[in-house]
Amino acid sequence: MKKMNNYEYLLSDITKLNGVGKKTMEILKKKKINNIFDLLWRLPKSYTDRSLTSKINELQIGHVHTIRIVPKKYLFPRIRNLPNRVNCEDLTGKIDCIFFNSYEGYIKKILPLNEEITVSGKITFFKNKYQITNPTYVSTDSTLIEAVHNKYSLTEGISEKIYNKIISQILKDLPLLNEWHDEVILKKFGNQSWNESIIKLHDPKNIANYKSNFYKRLAYDEILSSFLVNSEIRKKIKKIKKDSKNFTDKSFKKTISKLNFKLTNDQKKTLTEINNDLSSKSKMFRLLQGDVGSGKTIVALISALNVIESNFQVAFMVPTEILAKQHFMLAKKLFQKDLNIEILSSKSESSEKKRIIEGLKKNTIQMVFGTHAIFQKKILFSKLGYIIIDEQHKFGVRQRKLLSDKGGKNCDVLLMSATPIPRTLTMSIYGDMDVSIIREKPNHRKEVKTYSKLESKIDDVIKFVKNELDEGNQVFWVCPLIEESKKLDHQSSIKKFEFLNKVFPKKVGLLHGKIDNEKKDQILNKFLNKEYKILVSTTIIEVGIDFPNANVIIIENANKFGLSQLHQLRGRVGRGSKQASCILMFKSNLSENAKKRINILKSSNDGFKISEEDMKLRGFGDLLGFKQSGVKKFRLADPIHNEDLFLLAEKVIKKMEKEENDLTKFKPLLKLYDQADIINDIV
Ligand code: ADP
Ligand code: MG
Repeated sequence: MKKMNNYEYLLSDITKLNGVGKKTMEILKKKKINNIFDLLWRLPKSYTDRSLTSKINELQIGHVHTIRIVPKKYLFPRIRNLPNRVNCEDLTGKIDCIFFNSYEGYIKKILPLNEEITVSGKITFFKNKYQITNPTYVSTDSTLIEAVHNKYSLTEGISEKIYNKIISQILKDLPLLNEWHDEVILKKFGNQSWNESIIKLHDPKNIANYKSNFYKRLAYDEILSSFLVNSEIRKKIKKIKKDSKNFTDKSFKKTISKLNFKLTNDQKKTLTEINNDLSSKSKMFRLLQGDVGSGKTIVALISALNVIESNFQVAFMVPTEILAKQHFMLAKKLFQKDLNIEILSSKSESSEKKRIIEGLKKNTIQMVFGTHAIFQKKILFSKLGYIIIDEQHKFGVRQRKLLSDKGGKNCDVLLMSATPIPRTLTMSIYGDMDVSIIREKPNHRKEVKTYSKLESKIDDVIKFVKNELDEGNQVFWVCPLIEESKKLDHQSSIKKFEFLNKVFPKKVGLLHGKIDNEKKDQILNKFLNKEYKILVSTTIIEVGIDFPNANVIIIENANKFGLSQLHQLRGRVGRGSKQASCILMFKSNLSENAKKRINILKSSNDGFKISEEDMKLRGFGDLLGFKQSGVKKFRLADPIHNEDLFLLAEKVIKKMEKEENDLTKFKPLLKLYDQADIINDIV
């Protein structure tokens, strides 16, 4: 029984299906399959994509292949210099994945036994067996793999037979949905309707192919729906009418004259974009994106000036107290003496706190800096007109929406992020905001010289560090990231601290996750005051803090980090005028692929470019900040393989934003794909 446009059927509970009893339902719910629609994306095992992957018996030695394999056995020899090995297979043969310098826990995580995994790398042949050394692209949780990997095996309690019965039932009752795309778009996908595409996707005769029209259409649906939702949130926020802020350039000129540098073109450009928003009658919801050290702070501070002059208050929120203090001091230095600027810190005396709270309530304080504490319930602003949030990449779309609601209609919002992301991901991650980008770095800044060193050459490194300290410079020493164990992280940093403290007595500070916030601030302050010359740490140091005197960063076990992350770490140094260096330490000689990655880092200082390359090499799931960014997890679409579809959707959305569009025709798409409460306000 086909029901015209009855998408509600797809949203109904799985127990509606024949053959889904309580037990099956529980198993499915555990897999986050709650309704019939969710079931559509679990595809039978026979769906492997031959256009992308090879079978083991088709491999060519010396060529790079992507293969889908099942890890069967770990061989972790306890002998130094012998690599870790994982026996793997597919239906056609056997292959070993070889790992030099990778922790067992990491290997177990990326190659779980008896699960189908996609790996990629150069194929070699050794002792009668194929092997891949340090596979470059390993994916267990990529949405792409999920889509082609049927998880309903016997061990999970649902037989192929039952599963097929359920699916054929759904396909039989699949409602005919009215087309939501226009003709031009539809033609790009060979005019395949949604219904047809779903049926093809499940047809065992069809080998699922990411390049086929039905697959691409479905991936595009997914991308478009997520972009549409983001775009609607943005439009909604923009529709909020506010009292615009008055603009003069008097105080701007005064402030600029106090700087000992000229703003870069990109700083000027983004400042204009922000100012236009502030002086408009619509509420601003904007992201200021720029690499570490690109000079976002000054842009944000200057943009606050006119808001204050329009008799509104400004709140500047940052992740740590030290950063709050740095920004506060800068504002004090730059802004007119008669402005009342305060910092609200957890360490402030309670009488001091009381005074600030009073001042904010009475509008005698014009600007306040602080951590999230400035948004506590008891803090009431008399006339909040602008919220600035620094280093915000930990917020997702929903949290951002709440934040924008918080300040009320007259409150403009600026978020800042130092995490460059590949272009294809911008709309997915930040589609709900307008985006301003600073690409250009202040030109006095010398590029950080990046070196790689074997761990066995530690004596050279120590010598280098000695020289730097003699020159009055300071050093960050970042300890290995051991993915499976935070505890080991601490231990390795403690060990390194003990070692360095012997070489450089009393000059070394130690920071790791187990140290509480107050102590952490003390240690960072001692480093800022140059009491400590070397700061040993895990990766916990916030990126935003300016340590102009820190000139060297040493990163141990550097192959454990993504390129974007290494780039961010590297950005902690080189903020002063001296030549800065970054030393990447490795346990043993680099593989070809590792060399390739490191060379990207050595040859480029552009975070955007590095993040693109990183995504190509490691898959988008690994990009720094991606997991916390709240970006939608796509079921079919993949930002690497479907780059063209992401760009197409972006174009379509941009065009739609210029016109007043009736979204009614997209209702089934949005309801099915984004079953979020936000949708209810849209359609
Ligand atoms: P980020 O974008 O990482 O937040 P900051 O705003 O902390 O960067 O700026 C880093 C350093 O660069 C600061 O010391 C700041 O004073 C300096 N700076 C900012 N803009 C310029 C410029 N146009 N020319 C020279 N130095 C600048
Ligand atoms: Mg910053």
